[in-house]
Amino acid sequence: MSRATASRQPLLPQWLRRPADFASTCAEPGPRERARRARFNEIGEFLFHHDLELSEANFAVAKAHLAGDPAIAGAVTAMLREHDRLTDAMLAPLASGGDRALRVDAVGELAERLAREAAECVRIIAASQSSGIDYRAALNAEVTVLSSDPVGALDRLIGLTTGMVDATRAMEEQLDTARLEAERLRSNLRRAQREADRDHLTGLPNRRHSEARLGALVPGSTAAVALCDIDDFKLVNDAHGHSTGDRVLKYVARLLRASLGESAIVARYGGEEFVCLFEDQTVAEAEALIEATRERLLSRSLANRTDGRAIGRVTFSTGVAAVGSDTREAVRLADEALYEAKRAGKNRTIVSRRIS
Ligand code: GH3
Ligand code: MG
Ligand code: MG
Repeated sequence: MSRATASRQPLLPQWLRRPADFASTCAEPGPRERARRARFNEIGEFLFHHDLELSEANFAVAKAHLAGDPAIAGAVTAMLREHDRLTDAMLAPLASGGDRALRVDAVGELAERLAREAAECVRIIAASQSSGIDYRAALNAEVTVLSSDPVGALDRLIGLTTGMVDATRAMEEQLDTARLEAERLRSNLRRAQREADRDHLTGLPNRRHSEARLGALVPGSTAAVALCDIDDFKLVNDAHGHSTGDRVLKYVARLLRASLGESAIVARYGGEEFVCLFEDQTVAEAEALIEATRERLLSRSLANRTDGRAIGRVTFSTGVAAVGSDTREAVRLADEALYEAKRAGKNRTIVSRRIS
């Protein structure tokens, strides 16, 4: 793509874009800071070497690759075996999938920290119970010597009680801190879980979410699934650049969402494919709704807002299948019908005649 014409707002925060100014405000970096800066420079070198756009998605892929993240590093290394240079388009599918993997990792890490914090609460409560038992035993011991040594026993009882009050107060404080931390982690975890189900480019739910919804369908209920794939999308990227391609993707996502409304859950399935799950709808109803959406898109002619050049009509092909007893099979049948729609000339909807 033409970087000079890219109109996308810079995604990196100000300090990331102006390392020199930022560095001048910092004290001499320690070893951890030096390692972080070395990693940052490595990521920058990687992005510049491959002449990649300085986008959040590319930054995440480069970072994961250089950190040896198994989901990303394997795919990037395989690409590098075949190509000297990586391109934005090559990283795009990885970016959405990879970003998801990173976010799923974040969920796992938060869940672990939450479990550790809960264990800490349990430890504090157990310690409090055991010091309560010790206190009771010490009180009983003093009561038995109260008549023979009343003054000494009273002194020791006051000492024991003051100690117990102090210990209880300290434990309450520890428990409060642990409880607050656990609450903070729980709310972060909820947010991370929501993020892990969302596609960062279009804002739609992602494939993981759609698969969970499909899996949760009540057996025997009426439902249909549709796979929509934008036609010749590679040509849009080739002619207008990846950023414009991204905007077209977002446009189609919005149109699907708005046109299908409450009738379907629309999710980004990956790349330029969307999955629509029609709960409580027959396959014929799903077909009619998809066809209306396809015609709506067909009636619009898009233009590249950065240079005004016409992108022309963007179309998509769809495969629809009824969801029977096997939801995975239903998606496979929709995919098969989508393939048929492509072979038959694209810009059409084909319904699978088979039942999963
Ligand atoms: P067909 O009609 O057969 O579906 O052709 P196509 O060009 O749409 O399909 P193909 O599988 O050949 O190419 C898909 C393209 O979609 C290539 C890939 O770079 C691009 N793509 C996938 N994800 C993204 C993305 O997030 N952003 C952008 N801009 N492009 C993407
Ligand atoms: Mg495709
Ligand atoms: Mg396509």
